[in-house]
Amino acid sequence: MYADDYRLRQREYLLQISRAMTSKLDMPSVLRLILGHAVDMLRGVSGLIALKEEDGSFSIRASYGLSPDLLPHLNALLGGLPVSLGGGGTSRWRIPGLRSRLALVVASTGVSLRQVVALPLLQEDNLVGVILIFGDSDVAFSNNDRQVLASFADQAAIAMQNARLYQDLAREKSRLDAIIDISADGVMILDPQGRIQAFNVALSQMTGWAEEAAREQPCWRVLDLRDRNGDKLCRKSCPVKNSQLLEGRLIQEGYILRSDGTRTDVSVAYTPLYDQQERLVNVLANVRDITRFREAEEMKSTFISVISHELKTPVAIIKGYVGTLRREDAHWDEKTLKESLASVEEQVDRLNHLIDNLLDASRIQSGAFKMDVGDVDLPGLAERVAKQFRPQTQTHRIAVHFPPCFPLVQGDAERLEEVFANLIGNAIKYSPQGGGIQVGGQVGSGGVLVYVADEGIGIPKGEQENIFRPFYRVEGDAGQETQGAGLGLYLCQAIVEAHGGRIWVESGPSKGSRFVFFLPLQEVAEEGNLDLVRRETDSAG
Ligand code: ADP
Repeated sequence: MYADDYRLRQREYLLQISRAMTSKLDMPSVLRLILGHAVDMLRGVSGLIALKEEDGSFSIRASYGLSPDLLPHLNALLGGLPVSLGGGGTSRWRIPGLRSRLALVVASTGVSLRQVVALPLLQEDNLVGVILIFGDSDVAFSNNDRQVLASFADQAAIAMQNARLYQDLAREKSRLDAIIDISADGVMILDPQGRIQAFNVALSQMTGWAEEAAREQPCWRVLDLRDRNGDKLCRKSCPVKNSQLLEGRLIQEGYILRSDGTRTDVSVAYTPLYDQQERLVNVLANVRDITRFREAEEMKSTFISVISHELKTPVAIIKGYVGTLRREDAHWDEKTLKESLASVEEQVDRLNHLIDNLLDASRIQSGAFKMDVGDVDLPGLAERVAKQFRPQTQTHRIAVHFPPCFPLVQGDAERLEEVFANLIGNAIKYSPQGGGIQVGGQVGSGGVLVYVADEGIGIPKGEQENIFRPFYRVEGDAGQETQGAGLGLYLCQAIVEAHGGRIWVESGPSKGSRFVFFLPLQEVAEEGNLDLVRRETDSAG
């Protein structure tokens, strides 16, 4: 009866341990539970489990019924453990001199531990740890006790194996998470139904969805990819349900819209991941921001259409004049000849100007834009440019007002003249009704402010930043009527910024425009993004 009871209790304990192992994989608590039950079964008082470290030594990882200050002393029991099982298997395995080592610990600490039994923890016949149970009675642990303990030792070994596998898995997972997170591309992992299982930082930034909010959401809700026409691609042809995906990789291009209205052009590559039974387990979606690429493509096509239009008009005019002048059946008087040739020259100048602008734009983009720096008299420059423009218009009054003793700035006079020419030229071009054009400046803190103001068509608020982009022209009746490649302001901005300055516009529709630029008064910054070359005379002096 007693033996049955005992066995029943042992079975019950082992069952509890198995349950604990499957319910929580926290190794220290499982080991403590095993120790507690083993101590109870063997009618001991305390116990410990020591595990083998990488260097071959053993260290105590779990204890039961032992005060923490005693544990360092008990390390003395763990030196020189037999690594092999010897001939007799687990039941014969002994730690040499264990009882006498315990006697020494007892003598030095005064602890009342009189009996000890030790069993190895084995994984595939390798010694990975040891379990020790202590008793305080006069009766030594029997062979039967060793056999009982063996079943607990087996459980401890399994618990350790599970915990190790779990740790390896957790380490692998956090490595994978880190790789996904540091990826510059957006990455998400979907389940076969398209619900988000992992979502990285780059994708959070692209979509505006926080990782926690995106998790478990259907992918279409978060990404909501749209095609060029704004149609919802995710709804129209969900890639996760697309048969093409099951055959391999699927790439979709479109744009995503954040809740704040920002748009990002993206290319999304979906890759299916299968398990060993060829069942779809996940879909990996790699989201690449292709906004820059799209912009470059757009710029290329704008460039071609603007340039061909801008080249076509003067070439057609020149061809018209030249064709007329060389007609053999006609005789032209000198006045007509001169006027015609003047028109041809004007168109050639226009072509030349366009070519210069194009070359400068390409130099800016390749970083090869050079400047010739010296003292520049801005009022003098402004007056010279105004003088060139005055004969070209009867409807505009160009006035130049600078305060007396306006300081010289350090800069490239020719480039700054180009800025005045572009701004005054635009002021005339975009004031079709004529009106006053005021050019002037003032000394501000750390630099000078220069303005060119007109009374023309003005620029809507939403366009005021765009007009400084290359090839950008405001769409609208007046804008379309005028000629231009949309490069003037881009070049003005590049020149002003190369001087360490800034340019902007203050305007509104039909309110006229006031272009203002600021130039610092100290030396032009050498770290300016464009290459600066001082005049030879300056460096010689
Ligand atoms: P372009 O004049 O050759 O088109 P710019 O780069 O000089 O190119 O100007 C870009 C656009 O900015 C113009 O197409 C025009 O729409 C707008 N813009 C420039 N200056 C003015 C101005 N003074 N008044 C109104 N709109 C202007």
